[in-house]
Amino acid sequence: MSIVRVALDIPLATLFDYTVAEGVVVGQRVIVPFGKRQMVGVVMECATSTELSAERIKPVSQVLHDSAPLSKGLLDLLRFCSDYYRYPIGQTVLSALPARMRSDKPITIKPVLSYRLSESGAALDLESFSKRKVVQRRILAKLTEEPCNLAQLKALSATVGAQLKALIAGGWVESYSEAHLPSTGSGGCPTKSSMGRADKNIQTHTFDNAHTLTGEQQLAVDSITQAGGYACFLLHGITGSGKTEVYVHLMHHVLQQGGQLLLLVPEINLTPQLEHYFRSRFSDVNLVSLHSGLGEGERLHNWQQAQLGVAQIVLGTRLSVFAELPGLALIIVDEEHDSSFKQQDGLRYSARDVAIFRASQRGVPIVLGSATPALESYHNAQSGRYQMLKLTGRALAEARLPTVRCVNINQTVMHHGISENLLREVELRIARREQSLLFINRRGYAPVLMCTGCGWLSDCKHCAGKMVLHLKDQRLRCHHCGYQIRVPLACPSCGNADLHPVGSGTQRVEEVLQQRFPDARILRVDRDSTRNKRAWQTMREQIHANEVDILVGTQMLAKGHDFPALTLVGALNPDSALYSSDFRAAEKLFAQLVQVAGRAGRAEKSGEVLIQTAFPDHPLFRALQTHDFEGWAAQQLAERQMAGFPPFVYQAMLRAEGKIEAEVYAYLNSARAAAKELQHDVEILGVVPAALPRRANHLRAQLLIQATTRKGLQQFLRAWQPLLDALPAAKLRCSLDIDPLEF
Ligand code: ADP
Ligand code: ZN
Ligand code: ZN
Repeated sequence: MSIVRVALDIPLATLFDYTVAEGVVVGQRVIVPFGKRQMVGVVMECATSTELSAERIKPVSQVLHDSAPLSKGLLDLLRFCSDYYRYPIGQTVLSALPARMRSDKPITIKPVLSYRLSESGAALDLESFSKRKVVQRRILAKLTEEPCNLAQLKALSATVGAQLKALIAGGWVESYSEAHLPSTGSGGCPTKSSMGRADKNIQTHTFDNAHTLTGEQQLAVDSITQAGGYACFLLHGITGSGKTEVYVHLMHHVLQQGGQLLLLVPEINLTPQLEHYFRSRFSDVNLVSLHSGLGEGERLHNWQQAQLGVAQIVLGTRLSVFAELPGLALIIVDEEHDSSFKQQDGLRYSARDVAIFRASQRGVPIVLGSATPALESYHNAQSGRYQMLKLTGRALAEARLPTVRCVNINQTVMHHGISENLLREVELRIARREQSLLFINRRGYAPVLMCTGCGWLSDCKHCAGKMVLHLKDQRLRCHHCGYQIRVPLACPSCGNADLHPVGSGTQRVEEVLQQRFPDARILRVDRDSTRNKRAWQTMREQIHANEVDILVGTQMLAKGHDFPALTLVGALNPDSALYSSDFRAAEKLFAQLVQVAGRAGRAEKSGEVLIQTAFPDHPLFRALQTHDFEGWAAQQLAERQMAGFPPFVYQAMLRAEGKIEAEVYAYLNSARAAAKELQHDVEILGVVPAALPRRANHLRAQLLIQATTRKGLQQFLRAWQPLLDALPAAKLRCSLDIDPLEF
């Protein structure tokens, strides 16, 4: 009998001891009894003794052999995260695994299907096949050459899945299963895969259409490939400077050496497009994606491909930072400033920061890429902790940076949030058959209902926020808690029937545009309309085919898309970020506007950006006009230093929410008193209401701790945590957020 210490998905900062008869290794998954339940856990340690008495210790119910054990390196990474983010070890370990590996049902491996022409497909004359079914024709042509698996076909088009189904339904193509994926093994070394490439030399791949790099690009690639061990690079390149091309060359280099590469991207909506792009650049390389939009089966499959070393490139959102990568040779974090790398619940990790730790743990280089680096990263690069690499010119000689102008909204005619100046520019673009994008900062832009008699506003009765008017279904909806009612016929407060929408939403903007330009084709893109992967794909294709004149949208549209016919960007309401309580609001706004401005004039047409503001002389807009990130960053950093904000201090935020205000404040005040007693060298601020002080009938408050060093903060937190755990908080939801981004 030996003893194992097991990580379980239980909110306690401890491992659980069990006995086991058969030989198990660290990293193996096991099923164990816990209370009345059976749970899946991961063996973290093997031991010879336990503090549990012989009667109390229970045996492991089952040792799972359906997947390779987790590597020591990954377990160390998760231990680090659990410690750094003050999150229970078991929950940390389990939350890093794909859902299928957390379930006590055995993992069944789906055979990897390959596709070939059926008899009638082989007999088909491609010339006679409908010319309009472009993708289907491409698939047929490819399969005429050789049978392919789905991953290979995906290089043909991002919509290949649906088209393939149509071909199978039509009887032209059939699927068959090759050998099964090896599901167990020692893990670690690249194994022969079922992807039909076992006969190929892993170190050669096609690498077509590579651009000759510019001097700056070449310098960046050389610096990174010559790193020889851990080094953190900040690739600061203006939009269109060819950062992606640098990534591609780095990938080429890593693939030649037989290594694995992890590419982290912020947006799940961007992954299909990026996946398609990189597949097209490396058509015979095994690339998998990892993000929460995948089905459970697909996610497990891709995770295992990475674990087996078969997947050479792993492209994923923040969760992929925990993928097993035995051959990891390089990590790239694209748009490293993006706040979606930070998880906002559970294990509140920053995937960028974890990636940096992982790179140093593995002794491999990491590249952080951005046109507008986070001030934290920029500061680190300036101080020499990271290595700064700059791309200062646009890669395509003829592509110039857009011109940026401000429209003073107090000195011009406004039409429900759109200035006459902007409408005229849009009109010009329509006449020239070019596209315009109207960018909306979501905050404070949703229309609410107001009574013209008494000034009543459509407050949510459960939250401190306002309910938003949804014209289409005539409802008021709270975007914080989901509460909704029909639009009232009269003011609930004074009975007046004259209720008016104030503020302007995407729908209002669309209406104004439609009235002014009745023949224009307007496309509204927001989070709701892009939730569906296919819908977004269709929209992108419409935009590319120039079937759209005006795009109206939020943040979504700013990120990473390349729309060649787009020459005008209008920022409708950037000002709300200027007087936000969040000290990062201006930094975020600058990044967003640079991103969205980068959409204009990417091809041979030069672009123009119009900013509607009441503060045309604000330094932020001045910096945008002169494309002066350096100046802006220097000024912001000076302000942060004066005010004592990150990156000059390190922060931790204790949050609490509950139904009874007194309980919330009692908890936080006791936490504060306990913190003071520890007498560490940290600054303990006051207990204050959260930015949204009431949500879904829960009162919310917070307590901020600051320290001048990361180490000092960590030492304090380690001492504080047991005191927090001892406080009565049964009816509260409490969380500790290290390096918080939301205020
Ligand atoms: P970024 O990622 O920095 O916004 P991209 O990598 O998308 O920029 O490059 C912008 C455009 O310039 C793309 O169309 C790309 O193909 C092109 N490009 C990049 N590098 C080069 C190069 N060295 N020579 C010619 N064109 C390039
Ligand atoms: Zn009223
Ligand atoms: Zn609400």
